[in-house]
Amino acid sequence: MTAQIIDGKAISEKLLCEIAADVEKMVQDGMPRPGLAAVLVGENPASQQYVKMKRKTCEKNGLDSFGYELPKTATQAEVEGLVKELNADPKVNGILVQLPLPSHLDDEKILNSISIEKDVDGFHPINIGRLAQKGREPLFVPCTPDGCIYLIDQTGFQLIGANAVVLGRSNIVGMPVALLLVKRDATVTICHSRSKDLPGICRSADVLIAAVGKPEMVRADWIKPGAVVIDVGTNRVDDPTSEKGYRLAGDVAFNEAKEVAGWISPYPGGVGPMTITMLLRNTVRAAKIQAGKL
Ligand code: NDP
Repeated sequence: MTAQIIDGKAISEKLLCEIAADVEKMVQDGMPRPGLAAVLVGENPASQQYVKMKRKTCEKNGLDSFGYELPKTATQAEVEGLVKELNADPKVNGILVQLPLPSHLDDEKILNSISIEKDVDGFHPINIGRLAQKGREPLFVPCTPDGCIYLIDQTGFQLIGANAVVLGRSNIVGMPVALLLVKRDATVTICHSRSKDLPGICRSADVLIAAVGKPEMVRADWIKPGAVVIDVGTNRVDDPTSEKGYRLAGDVAFNEAKEVAGWISPYPGGVGPMTITMLLRNTVRAAKIQAGKL
């Protein structure tokens, strides 16, 4: 069997068109343009690049984007003070504090200081807590996990009653995606670095989500024939034969896994483009919530 490829780039482009059309309709109806504030502390090149991409995608799709750059020496009080100002700014509907923060800062306290109505990254403990509770709904769902579920839904696969295995239990990906799968009535197994017999557990999965950050860890013989495989991993592997000296690899050995899976998301071009798209979708949702339209 050769898997159908889940084209995250095309799916995200289509969703971005819908978001842009929604924004224009909001503006025509007299609402202000939704605005996202991105807070960057320090000069981590990957973080700078992520923030640049997020702001560019906002601007391309009709959202306002406001950038705030603080030096790596910024104090806890300075960052929390900025978040407080943004909480009170009516032009700002969503606040994104780019992680990781420099190590002297308490990221938990900073994320907690974001108003839950502007928590478009979905990391506020009240939003995560609601995600974990039966019968409660968060205002916002974390973007990468939301993107994973959106990709699964695009395949037409029915999650109700399916066996789902999540590799990884981080606050950003593994745990929230597992909670989302439970909310969708899948039966979920969460694996981590202390789990035993990963290949055996994975082989029971109708849906397998890999978010460990270990290049090509998931092999073809870990995959149940016909399963939906979502690869969140983004890794660089040394490769002297390539011009850059490295190649990109997901957590799944794509070339062999695609011969067994029913559906598979590639890297690059799978989950990655969905993350920013979901951030924009959350920002538009935040603007509607704050305007009393939702
Ligand atoms: P973390 O490092 O925070 O978490 C990794 C998780 O994987 C942990 O729960 C860890 O277990 C588990 N793990 C590590 N090694 C193994 C192993 N050998 N066997 C089983 N489990 C293992 O990573 P993130 O969740 O932040 O990210 C995971 C991957 O997803 C990374 O490649 C990252 O770059 C990528 N990513 C991609 C995004 C996108 O937009 N496409 C967004 C965010 C992340 P334990 O808890 O026991 O330590």
